[in-house]
Amino acid sequence: MVTRLYTHPACLAHDMGPGHPESPARLTSILAALKTPDFAALEWAEAPPAELEQIMRAHPLAFIEGVLAAVPASGRVALDADTILSPGSGEAALRAAGAVTAAVDAVARGQIANAFCAVRPPGHHAEASTAMGFCIFNNVAIGAYQARVVHGLARIAVVDFDVHHGNGTQAIFARDPALFYASTHQMPLYPGTGYAQETGVGNICNVPLPPEAGSVEFRAVMTDRVLPALDAFRPDFLLISAGFDAHKADPLANLRFEEADYAWATDRLLAVAAQHCQGRVVSALEGGYDLTALAASSAAHVRRLMAATKGVSLS
Ligand SMILES: [Zn+2]
Repeated sequence: MVTRLYTHPACLAHDMGPGHPESPARLTSILAALKTPDFAALEWAEAPPAELEQIMRAHPLAFIEGVLAAVPASGRVALDADTILSPGSGEAALRAAGAVTAAVDAVARGQIANAFCAVRPPGHHAEASTAMGFCIFNNVAIGAYQARVVHGLARIAVVDFDVHHGNGTQAIFARDPALFYASTHQMPLYPGTGYAQETGVGNICNVPLPPEAGSVEFRAVMTDRVLPALDAFRPDFLLISAGFDAHKADPLANLRFEEADYAWATDRLLAVAAQHCQGRVVSALEGGYDLTALAASSAAHVRRLMAATKGVSLS
């Protein structure tokens, strides 16, 4: 049983313009880190495009068709102030969602132990009918429905350690007690949601952190809040919204996480998944805007996903 990396060159062709922090170089830096000898056992796979039917479980058809119809033949079209379509964006968005659905299929069928989807655009800000915050389709929400509808898994959890609150995932999950969403994020910060009082139908766990919070605060709230809530939910499948922009080097926010925190959190999440769902975990890239920190943090995360497949004890 291996860890599989899903990615696709089309995800490099989504280009929101010079100076935009959500750049193709982000993915290039991650893939370069995952090509080093440490990761020789990582199995690479091409992300297929998601099928319309899969995306429609999280987004209305009119929204999906509207986004795809807005993709320009040349130049760029803005969906909001910071979410922009280039000619390559339609295929990139379809393959970003398709990576997660394919990864869910492979993990649910027991073909692989777990997976990391190194894709862009990210997804956690995308609401059912609104593309926003660099996100077009909500990749992890689409993955959650894939696990439920295709594989009959009843209880699906998403844990999101991106520095921003995943307003889109929360909005899509909020009224469904069999879907669980937990997020650690900086507050105040974009998009302005994610207060602890936002609890859905008891299935949402928001843990805002103040600017300058770092390893100690992150590990404390994971240990005291997120992990117990996840454990109590008893997931049949776990998705991770893996954004690395809470890193101390990140230019878009003010938290002070380090690579070791991502390794630690990955181990802890894998331990809960091992207890409740035979370790079924699919992780998908969200944010992370310092290229060096992003590559190192992604590598730390994937290294722990791979270690879990070898039965190495989780420290
Ligand atoms: Zn983010």
